[in-house]
Amino acid sequence: MADLSNVPVIDIHDDNFEEMWPSVVLALRTSTLVALDLELSGLGNRKMLTAKSIDDRYSALREVARTRSVLSVGISCFKQQPSNDLQVTFFVQTYNITLLCSEDYVVEPSSVQFLVDHGFDFNKQYSLGVSYYRGNDRAGDTKLRTVRQLISELILSRVPIAFHNGMVDLIYLYHSFYAELPSKLSTFLADLSEVFPAGIYDTKYITEFSARLQASFLEYAFRKCQRDNAFSASKEENYVHLQFPSYPSSFQNVKHKYIGLPGFKSVWTSEEKRKHASSICQVFAAHGWCPSLRKCQKSHNIDLILDCEEERRGKKRRRKRQKGQAASMEAERHTDDCDQSDANSADVDMESSHVLSKCTKSQKDGEFHNANEAVKQIHSSSVHNKDTLPSSKQDSPSSLTASHLEGGTPLSQSQSNSGGHRAGFDAFMTGFVLAKYVVQYGNTLHTDEVYKIGNFGMDSFANKLPLSGKDIPLQVTKSSFAKTSKNHQQKMELLQKHKESTT
Ligand SMILES: [Zn+2]
Repeated sequence: MADLSNVPVIDIHDDNFEEMWPSVVLALRTSTLVALDLELSGLGNRKMLTAKSIDDRYSALREVARTRSVLSVGISCFKQQPSNDLQVTFFVQTYNITLLCSEDYVVEPSSVQFLVDHGFDFNKQYSLGVSYYRGNDRAGDTKLRTVRQLISELILSRVPIAFHNGMVDLIYLYHSFYAELPSKLSTFLADLSEVFPAGIYDTKYITEFSARLQASFLEYAFRKCQRDNAFSASKEENYVHLQFPSYPSSFQNVKHKYIGLPGFKSVWTSEEKRKHASSICQVFAAHGWCPSLRKCQKSHNIDLILDCEEERRGKKRRRKRQKGQAASMEAERHTDDCDQSDANSADVDMESSHVLSKCTKSQKDGEFHNANEAVKQIHSSSVHNKDTLPSSKQDSPSSLTASHLEGGTPLSQSQSNSGGHRAGFDAFMTGFVLAKYVVQYGNTLHTDEVYKIGNFGMDSFANKLPLSGKDIPLQVTKSSFAKTSKNHQQKMELLQKHKESTT
């Protein structure tokens, strides 16, 4: 999986925006799917975001989007490549654009603290941010290469787009780079269904409603998908394979982000199991966020969280198995063997790929042992990067965490050091999670078939946005009673004309 270990993110700012323009536009025009992430100067009153009425939430967010700003936008372009085997290959180009709103905006102290804690560079934003204005297009604006124009290119490419928890991002995206937000939610949703006709895919929605993972925050979903994907690859199932452009060393605008899977500890003593489990911050494990931030004494390590989860599930299953089956001595000895090895993760992975239910008992046992080997291989072949070792301070008090990782990078910690390209990397993670779900839930793959736009077989997942505290997602759709807005109609017409004049 070495190809997945170093993700290049192109850093775009005022000094290289013109230079990078052609390659970004080309990537947008040729993509199979585009994932987006926005970094914001604030979200306003948190209570309003969880208001009971969705219309109230929209009204509050609309007001917030008009007074706050977008600090950076991440764009990750996934282009499917032809391939002849089980690999579903995507060529991935990821950009992080630093922005500077030219109008007054509110910066919330809590957001600043969060951003500083996550390595956001405010100096760079003020000196190098690409300027933009909010609301409708301006009559005097004749600049051809702006972020607004870039988003227009994205819209004209009619490509499926992906967000992770996209409601807020979509409201900001619309108001910051497209047009003045309509006053009613139903109008906004009708507009959106035309702006992105190939579908909006929300990976948090799919994670919660279909994949039903233990948690649904982005880093967690990404790492879980990455691990499951590595397992699928080892088991000769369809899996996502990524290709990245290789940039010359003289190219200054690229930063690499290491995401290799950590070393895998195969045997956990019961002492270790107990210590690992008790060292995890449960708040972080559930939400991907902890009020104590770096001061928290517990571990925020996603890999440790996933390992413990798999360990727990493996135990449950073993109990069930021992209860319900009058298994032969031989089979029981197998189960014991599994206890002693890293079967737990293999076991869980098998279940998640829906293989377990199809197998007979003996087949299961057979596959178990192969799977163990496969997982061992995957883990041992993952690249280690000494430069990104967690500092001992961050890992205290659980030195167990450090030894467990054997030099791998805890994703959550590397995230905090992502130094100003967080939006780009978050967009990449979102794109990967969607790619994994396309392989998992989408059309049966024909080996030489390349996905075309709208050919995902993922229609049932499209245009559904999760809402915190609600069991039903928000549908992005044009209902019979909701018309699209005037601003949107005029803008769409303009974009169509522009397209016809340039092609
Ligand atoms: Zn914590």
